[in-house]
Amino acid sequence: MLRQKEVKSVLNKHKKRDSWFLDDYSVNPYEGCSCNCLYCYIRGSKYGENMEDGLALKANALEVLEKQLAVKAKKNQYGFVAVGSGTDAYIHHEEKYRLTEGMLTLLLKYRFPVFISTKRTLITRDIELLKKIDEAAILPDDLKDKLKRGLILSVSVSTLEEKISNMLEPGAVAPLKRLELVKQLKQEGFLTGVNAIPVLPFISDTEEELEKIILASKEHNADYILVGGLTLFGNGPADSKTLFYKFLERYDASLLPKYQKLYGSNFYVPFPYQNELKERANRLCKKNNIRSTILE
Ligand code: SF4
Repeated sequence: MLRQKEVKSVLNKHKKRDSWFLDDYSVNPYEGCSCNCLYCYIRGSKYGENMEDGLALKANALEVLEKQLAVKAKKNQYGFVAVGSGTDAYIHHEEKYRLTEGMLTLLLKYRFPVFISTKRTLITRDIELLKKIDEAAILPDDLKDKLKRGLILSVSVSTLEEKISNMLEPGAVAPLKRLELVKQLKQEGFLTGVNAIPVLPFISDTEEELEKIILASKEHNADYILVGGLTLFGNGPADSKTLFYKFLERYDASLLPKYQKLYGSNFYVPFPYQNELKERANRLCKKNNIRSTILE
């Protein structure tokens, strides 16, 4: 049985809108995530090496969310709500507990627009609910002319190699299955793209590998592809930097010195790397005629 906890607040308002995903708010039905990605930014001592062990369900989340949404709606403070920013909204526990579904039902009731990024196919269970949100949501005033719909869906892919994905993202579905999900969501009429965030230095960020991801996204009818670098936090035993470096030792130890040189004692990739990656991604998206942002 999943651990349950009570929360005082569940709707988080960002200081400013997320420039990638356009969300002004986020909600997380679960604390922690069973996808267990080694690079996950929420890792660390709080969740331990296996995040499944520290996972909790927010037992009173729906009651609290309803109150918070009612206040925001009354003040006309509409904005995209990212459902699952510190968890995947469709972890396997969602099949049983249906907390994401409950949150989406409330977001529909109060007409908030929704952004969801997932690595799992359970999202197809909620297609009819998501269609209603897409139609009924009230956009924030400054997005009304730019985006005439209330739902943005993304599927995250860091590599197309199943072997690497199995090692790095053990609780997610295989990368090609994720791309098939993009196609399916597009067939349902949703605005759907691919988050190639993070791409992996020297593995999936190269000209050739990045173009493969971009082409595969286009072939699966993605509306856009967002490309971003890898952040590796912390040096503790359950932190992402430690776990990622252990993965490199198992996958290809010759990459380890390259990463150590790139990251040094930092958690972020240096600016020149970020700029090069951005330039490469924009150029390859242009060449292959696919948007590198959600908005046109
Ligand atoms: S799916 Fe997202 S939240 Fe879940 S472990 Fe992976 S990176 Fe973290």
